[in-house]
Parts: sequence; structure tokens; C-alpha cells
Amino acid sequence: MLLIILFLLFGLIIGSFLNVLVYRLKDAETLLGRSFCRNCKHQIRWYDNVPLVSFLLLRGACRDCETKISWQYPTLEFITGLLFALIGYFFFSPEVVSSWMETGWLLGIVSCLLVIGVYDLRYMEIPLSLLIVSAVLTLSFFVSSFFLSGEAFFSSQLWYGLLGGAVVCGFFFLLVWMSHETWMGWGDVWLGAVAGLIVGLPLVLPMLTLSFGLGAIVGLLSIAYKKKGLKSQIPFAPFLVAGVILILLLPKAFPVFSQLFFL
Ligand SMILES: [Zn+2]
Repeated sequence: MLLIILFLLFGLIIGSFLNVLVYRLKDAETLLGRSFCRNCKHQIRWYDNVPLVSFLLLRGACRDCETKISWQYPTLEFITGLLFALIGYFFFSPEVVSSWMETGWLLGIVSCLLVIGVYDLRYMEIPLSLLIVSAVLTLSFFVSSFFLSGEAFFSSQLWYGLLGGAVVCGFFFLLVWMSHETWMGWGDVWLGAVAGLIVGLPLVLPMLTLSFGLGAIVGLLSIAYKKKGLKSQIPFAPFLVAGVILILLLPKAFPVFSQLFFL
């Protein structure tokens, strides 16, 4: 239980950093250095920089200029904290060395994916640098666990990951090419490749089902509420990110889930 709380707190802190990353990647600012208000440029005091708590205490506004703080901050902090706690609960056992590697990989991947999702939501663009980080992180985890476990290549996570990446990449490539980029953009093709690599071959099917299903529900709802016209684009990355994270967690949370799709 103590361990899960530590994972939660760690997630809240990382989530707070991911918020900053979304803005600093866009403006190509340095990733280090103190946080400041995006409006009045005042430095944020350390006691106003506590994840979730400060947002509540400040009632969602800057202490200096009273500009509203975006809901992105507490939301992303909460989601990161929750996902870190779940990963710690389902994947980490201190006495198993391989679980340290897998947990580290999952925390890194989930952090990258969350930033990619929020970034696409905000700017309708996918940051290439984070796609590369995710791919390198995933490949190094798969390659090292392949060599450490000594399993056959054609039954390894590395092989199924590569196949999954190729399948999703190829499928999205066709969608983009046939629709002349109206259904999704080229950034989604690369994100699809990374998502397929992470999830691996049999699971890319339920992953895509969940992503397109969530996308369709949100798309229909926003048309129903006249927020978006039929022609306006809805970013796809957040749904793909949600699909990947759900597929990473669902089989652990509900073992019956994996029996539904294969076995
Ligand atoms: Zn301010």
C-alpha cells in the first residue's frame, strides 16, 4: 500500500512536469529552469507549485495576475498520478528484477504518450521528438528483455511488437493516402507505428477498436452538441493514446479480457 502511494505521488510530480513539457516543447524553450505564469511571467513560488493541491488552494488562478490556470494542469497531474499508481500496483514487485525494467518502461512510455495526446489536443500536431523517445525506449526494453530471457526470437515481445508496428503503420498509411489527409494526418501514421510497437501484434486489434470506438463516440457527441461541424477535424492522437494505455492495463486488471481476444 505504501508503495502504491509512492507511485501516486511520483506520478503527480511527473504529471506536473509533463504539463510544462507540453508548452516548452511547442516554444522550443529549455526544459530546465523555474516555472512561470504564462500570462504575467511571474515566477511560480515553490508552495504554489504543489501538484493538484495548489490548483485547489489558488482556486485555479495565478496568485499575481489572477488569470485562470488551464484545467489541463490538474487534469494531467491527476491522470498521471492515477496511471503511475495502477502501473505500480499491477506490474511492480520489488523482488523481481525484470519487473523493475517493465515498470520503468511503462512509466516512461505512459508519460510520453500523455504529452503526445495533450499536445495534439492543444496544437493539432504530434511532437516528433517524443515519438522518437518512445520508440527508442520501447525497442531498448524489448531488445534487452529478449537477450535476458533467452526466448526464441519469433515468440518474443520484440518480434510481435515489430509486426504490430508495421501493421498499424501500414493501415494508417492507407487511410491517410486514400483520404488525402482528411481522415488523419501523417503524424498519426508515425504515432500508429509506435503504438503498434508498444502493444504488439494480437493486441493491436482491440487497441484500434477501442481507439476508433472512443473517437466515434466523442465525434458524434460533439456534432450532436454542435460544437464541431462535420468537416472540422478532431485530433486522433488522444484516442490512440487512450487505446494504448487501456490495452496495457486492461489485461492485468481483468484477466478475462485477454481471453476474449485470443487464447
Ligand atoms: Zn500570472
